[in-house]
Amino acid sequence: MKRTLFFLGAFALSFSGLQADELFLGKKNIFNKAMDSFGQSRVIQWCEKKLSSDAFVKVFFGAEPASPLFQEMGKDAQITLGISEDCHVPIYKMTLNLELFKEVGAFALPGFIIVNENRLNRASYGAQRAALFHEAVHIKYADSTASEFFVTFFLALGVAGSNKIIRDYNLFQTSLLARVATPFAVGMTSLILSGKFYGHYRERRADIEGCYATQCYVCVKEHAEHRRKIFEQEKNSLRHNGYLWAEDLLVIADELKRENRVCIYHSEIVKG
Ligand SMILES: [Zn+2]
Ligand SMILES: [Zn+2]
Repeated sequence: MKRTLFFLGAFALSFSGLQADELFLGKKNIFNKAMDSFGQSRVIQWCEKKLSSDAFVKVFFGAEPASPLFQEMGKDAQITLGISEDCHVPIYKMTLNLELFKEVGAFALPGFIIVNENRLNRASYGAQRAALFHEAVHIKYADSTASEFFVTFFLALGVAGSNKIIRDYNLFQTSLLARVATPFAVGMTSLILSGKFYGHYRERRADIEGCYATQCYVCVKEHAEHRRKIFEQEKNSLRHNGYLWAEDLLVIADELKRENRVCIYHSEIVKG
């Protein structure tokens, strides 16, 4: 009985923690901090390095070094976010499957940030810079690898927890199939849900932390305008995956503006 309660408690707590992101804006709660430490832990960072594959990005994305501007933005983002140098990743551009990824400006994989220059070249400077900072946050917390661990944990928790409940309460006594299939179904549901929750969580974290790290209200404002265009006008199919909407981004821009935060590029433009 105690163990059943433990399973249910752990399950509920983990999910409610992932949703607790009202507090996320500007200040991290204890759960957010735990998630940060998890992604930055040695074991996750080590696995992320092992999962990185040059051959994979070459075959699937025809990856080549990105244009100097994006390489510079990506490097600056990784330094600013405090990623240790041995974990810095190169910035590549995709030359294959461009049609398949036509709605994506950039993405992070273990060991790489890949830019879709066809798309990102059309965005404003601020939107480009914010995109590179967003991807660098994914690298900082090894999000691809952490996600694999996370969903595997929930798969195991779902299978073990439901199995325990079935045994403790003698459920499905007449059907062996139900006794075997139920833990499997609960495990798979748990895996899919946790993947979805983690997916939303990591996109919000990458947006929020990335925008603050740009330390420029003009960059974040331009990023918000770009997002208004792609989410609200073009109805980008990724818009319901946890990303901040233009209104949320403008809250961050306002905060940076109150503190007079402007990047070098925009301070020169402002000076004229
Ligand atoms: Zn992302
Ligand atoms: Zn700027």
